[in-house]
Amino acid sequence: VLRMESVRKTFGGSVVLRDVGLEVAPHTVTALIGASGSGKSTLLRCANLLEDIDDGAIWLDGEEITDPRVDQDAVRRRIGVVFQAYNLFPHMTVLENITLAPRRVHGDSRAQAEKHARELLERLGLAGRADEYPDRLSGGQQQRVAIVRALAVRPRLLLLDEITAALDPELVGEVLNVVRDLKADGMTMVLATHEMGFAREVADQVCFLDAGVVLERGTPEQLFGDPQQERTRRFLRRIV
Ligand code: ATP
Ligand code: MG
Repeated sequence: VLRMESVRKTFGGSVVLRDVGLEVAPHTVTALIGASGSGKSTLLRCANLLEDIDDGAIWLDGEEITDPRVDQDAVRRRIGVVFQAYNLFPHMTVLENITLAPRRVHGDSRAQAEKHARELLERLGLAGRADEYPDRLSGGQQQRVAIVRALAVRPRLLLLDEITAALDPELVGEVLNVVRDLKADGMTMVLATHEMGFAREVADQVCFLDAGVVLERGTPEQLFGDPQQERTRRFLRRIV
């Protein structure tokens, strides 16, 4: 679904991603782990064309999306993104938040968009919340609404950046459950996370980033059970 090759990204003079390669197969979950500042968010932002890359190339479903002739908005419509802070529009109801993009971007009718939104809300355990404003919801509920909003445009790929990092510990579980359900439904996802237990459980592929380099990748069993690089071992020792 997604392929990155030799991606390089700099900010000012500093190299943030160096020769990054990534291959994401359909219906798989890829977890990006690594210390703060290692480049996880930047990698996700490059994949969604929120950042221009300095070198290398990125493909989505076989199409080179870093080709300057590509319609970037059309590409972004095929990718759903959820960030740490849920970023819901506070002056819109849950339903309005969710149906905005499908109506504006895809030209769905209001009825179509609302029907799909209500189905997704139901699936994520939020039936009955459609007409609430975000500030009436818990952090976990808001983050689930943000996931529904990302799913509302029927993306090919979902990018999730530390989606539980801003949540109270007791609310983390309900959001991780949503990711488990999406995986069971075959959604292709790339997620940056500090939740190692979760990465180990849900990921098909784990990539360890260190100073902008994918230093090591493998199945969760390989990466957590038998890391090959000293730096990976040190990182895992420190956080578990
Ligand atoms: P965290 O775990 O804290 O979220 P991360 O792995 O997501 O960290 P990034 O946010 O990708 O790390 O940042 C990687 C590096 O790029 C950091 O050194 C950061 O300071 C730098 N960086 C990120 N965005 C910008 C920007 N817009 N301008 C300049 N430097 C940036
Ligand atoms: Mg980050």
